[in-house]
Amino acid sequence: MKWKLDKKDLRSFLQGLIEKVDLYAPVKLSEGVFSYKKIEQAEEVDLTHPNPQKPVKDLFFPQSEVMFRYEKVGKEHQVVSAEGVKKERVVLGARPCDVQAISILDELFLGRDTIDEFYSQKRKATTIICLGCNQPRSTCFCSSMSGGPFIRTGSDLFLIDLGEAYGVECLSEKGKAFLGNKFLKEADGNDSKRAKELEEKATQKVNLSTPRPEGRGLLKVHPEPHAFTPSLKTGLRAPERVNSFLPIENIEKKLDPIIESPFWDRLHEKCVGCGVCTLLCPTCHCFDIVDEALNNRGQRVRNWDSCLFPLYSLETSGHNPRPTGRERTRQRIMHKFNYYPKIFNRIACVGCGRCVAYCPVNFDIRQAIKDIQDY
Ligand code: SF4
Ligand code: SF4
Repeated sequence: MKWKLDKKDLRSFLQGLIEKVDLYAPVKLSEGVFSYKKIEQAEEVDLTHPNPQKPVKDLFFPQSEVMFRYEKVGKEHQVVSAEGVKKERVVLGARPCDVQAISILDELFLGRDTIDEFYSQKRKATTIICLGCNQPRSTCFCSSMSGGPFIRTGSDLFLIDLGEAYGVECLSEKGKAFLGNKFLKEADGNDSKRAKELEEKATQKVNLSTPRPEGRGLLKVHPEPHAFTPSLKTGLRAPERVNSFLPIENIEKKLDPIIESPFWDRLHEKCVGCGVCTLLCPTCHCFDIVDEALNNRGQRVRNWDSCLFPLYSLETSGHNPRPTGRERTRQRIMHKFNYYPKIFNRIACVGCGRCVAYCPVNFDIRQAIKDIQDY
């Protein structure tokens, strides 16, 4: 780590950025609720929350995006493309798991055969400044998913919160463009030592996972569902944790023979199909395209969708190949841990823990992974 940014200079650093680029960073909306927003004033930025509820994918693949507008004028149809990206963009404060997730989405949207122009424009115009996680949450399991609280993959710049300053690493060509910034100062040996200690401590913390008592997995009825999965909603804490990585190796092979198994009958039972786990997931990318029209004009819009919604797979004929929660939960798991690895050679989960933290019925994907491996 060669550089640092004193926190007393952060405001001026950000104000300088705002004058040149569109800056996006986490903003506090209300107590405990944070979101990536376009920043108008440096004071809006809040880097204290571990990870905003909505992932950073929203800035590249928005929840709702106009693709084009159309209008009928006389006998003519006029089509106007959606506004493209006009300015360079900087995303500040994305956490390592979300940045890893962007590299997963890159493979899909900037794919081998087809490039998604809407995603591509935003991606090319964006510099990602990632912030390491000094305090991983009890629901984080990034280390089990080839990540970690200080993984730099996909970041253009990497920040480490040292207390009085941020340690800064310029990692890519886009990141190196910051080298002349007057607010970056040379870091010394003490800063590097502190950064290393923080990294080791955070990595050790995230390598711990929450145990469940024997025989109380998702496949068994759990008498105290909130007791072993920490929930922001209830504020209940995770119990003491143990050192254990999730057994993720070869999970795609384990899933192949159980596609028609009764395993899914029990796994899906507690899910109420709200879709939160998929909508907040940084790697989920199902979408629906709709025309919103009134009189002579309209627009075509792409919206996030979820494989956990019955309408998602309903065909025009009325047939639904995923008619119950059983098939839909199976699809969620199979897509992440079987179909995606088969096509892209990587699991479509980065262990951000959002689906664990925000599921209203505490469906815990970590336990599902263990149950699959034990089945
Ligand atoms: S968040 Fe929980 S209840 Fe909602 S769809 Fe996902 S697993 Fe089911
Ligand atoms: S499946 Fe859950 S833990 Fe994995 S990336 Fe999606 S929200 Fe995060």
